[in-house]
Amino acid sequence: MSFKTKAFVLRSRVWREADRLYDLFTPEEGVLNVILKSAAKPGNKLSGHLLPYSKVSVMIGRGRFDHLAGVETIKDFKNIRTNLKLLSLAGSVVELFIYDQERGYKYREFNLLESIFSLLDNSDIELDKKSILVRVFLWKYLSLSGWQPQLNRCLICNKDISSGKYVSGRGIICSEHQESGFIVSDNLIDFLRFVLDADWLDFINLKIDKNLNREWLKASSMFYQSVFERPSQSLKLFNYG
Ligand SMILES: [Zn+2]
Repeated sequence: MSFKTKAFVLRSRVWREADRLYDLFTPEEGVLNVILKSAAKPGNKLSGHLLPYSKVSVMIGRGRFDHLAGVETIKDFKNIRTNLKLLSLAGSVVELFIYDQERGYKYREFNLLESIFSLLDNSDIELDKKSILVRVFLWKYLSLSGWQPQLNRCLICNKDISSGKYVSGRGIICSEHQESGFIVSDNLIDFLRFVLDADWLDFINLKIDKNLNREWLKASSMFYQSVFERPSQSLKLFNYG
């Protein structure tokens, strides 16, 4: 049995002999590990279409291992591969997807991935702006994955609040509660609501105040670490604050 789907190439590794194993992200099933037989042999026409971060249309054969039966490039996002910082930013995005091995419909995640790759690939957007966009991506992606922080009401007493203490990965609590969290400004809470709701275009011309940016960087780093326990390449993205 075989089927056709769209996919993003997340990464590839050497498999047995001349074969390669690709991690593909598909809207129908999430991450699939798919083998390309004889990928390294001269004359293999498929491997040239499977560059990292490309959007492809693939034919996948089902078997004991899924294998690639056909590939066409839809968009190769080639600008991403011309710059080390962009590669690093794209790598930290991809790592989130590789980490998520839960199968099932991932259409919203697929669209989000397409958005961030398009933005990283867009040479009209300044490089510095792109690290901000990846940080926005992190919040949007984790919120889709069941980590939407509660930012309107206190997690403990349910009171409507607009500031207080931020509990990473969860939301905000009144500052008088004993539970640990770090004090955040009204500005940051407003800004986080904006990050979760606003459209990508709203971020391209956004100017972020220096103090707010520092606060956001700290909250982002804590958010990330509360979700992912293992040390991660993605933490690098917080060095670009
Ligand atoms: Zn409270």
